[in-house]
Amino acid sequence: MPETVYFIESREKADDQYLCSQLESLLVSAGLLDFIEERDMVAVKTHFGETKDLGFVRPLYFLMLSRLLKERKSAPFLTETSTLYKGNRSNGVIHLEHAHRQGFGFEQTGMPILMADGLFGEEEIEVPVPGKLFKSVKLATLVVKAQALIMVSHFTGHLGTGFGAALKNMGMGCASRGGKMAQHSTAKPSVKKKACTKCGVCVKWCPASAITMNEECAVIDKKICIGCGQCLAVCRFDAVTYNWGATYEDLQKKVVEHAFGVAENKKGKALYVNFLTRISKDCDCMSGFHQIVPDIGILVSADPVALDAASLDLVESRAGKKLSDMAYNIPCRFQIDYAREIGFGNADYTIKKI
Ligand code: SF4
Ligand code: SF4
Repeated sequence: MPETVYFIESREKADDQYLCSQLESLLVSAGLLDFIEERDMVAVKTHFGETKDLGFVRPLYFLMLSRLLKERKSAPFLTETSTLYKGNRSNGVIHLEHAHRQGFGFEQTGMPILMADGLFGEEEIEVPVPGKLFKSVKLATLVVKAQALIMVSHFTGHLGTGFGAALKNMGMGCASRGGKMAQHSTAKPSVKKKACTKCGVCVKWCPASAITMNEECAVIDKKICIGCGQCLAVCRFDAVTYNWGATYEDLQKKVVEHAFGVAENKKGKALYVNFLTRISKDCDCMSGFHQIVPDIGILVSADPVALDAASLDLVESRAGKKLSDMAYNIPCRFQIDYAREIGFGNADYTIKKI
């Protein structure tokens, strides 16, 4: 039987006030928060964005969510995990400071922020997963300990997985540092000697100190590299290259199995919300913003696989072309197909337009 995916259509560009009121009406009228019980600790997982002009989900939505959740006498908190790579979000302290600069203070969201994976990303709980690659996955502690979960994800293109939405936010975004490394460990880039200008930016950004400079170009030590892809992201000269054919499948499978671990852990106690607004070529971790599709709206479902399948279909039908032609040339539908293959969720959906 197809899974229901609710669809709130955007009226005009970045119409957050309207979308927020529509989302509130949907959550209440369709009883989508009825699984929240009194005194539940509710983790609300999102991404605070890299800079203010990017496409992250704006704080006003969380203020509305916190009001609804508190009316149900639960205890909601916003949560995130540290990144593998260097930057504004690589440990608990600077990540919280960054969130506040991005407008996610208590006054703006009505919720405190608790880092799910502790100070250094090391706080983790291993949970079982019926995957093909993993029998257990390392998830951020508070994601596991929370009694309910609301995943609020922003749909974007993504250089490793083709697109990022609920599955990516769950698989990578809810993993501890150890879980993230397990997902990235086989994606190893290399440097094209002719294109490298020896600017040294990748050396500064590499979280594993895997890059050195020789006479001719930057050199990556593949034994040290943790495969985070940050060098690819920061090189402005396209000198860093991945063998996508060898890696995209592996990365997407690992992300999906980690997401499966999250979903299994929160069976019947989770809701998934995807924002198809301010859709950019790159994910919200990147500092450049280039919108590739007009705003579409918000999708909501109890099933993250149905939700992502519907999101991808809507994006491609609205654009009239494949996402891989607008963002990265990666078979991004692979993550949906793999979820189906391992018995995770339901990729068949029916859209209920609000
Ligand atoms: S960022 Fe690119 S151009 Fe600069 S040193 Fe690294 S590989 Fe070379
Ligand atoms: S060399 Fe490896 S660890 Fe360093 S930034 Fe690139 S992918 Fe990440």
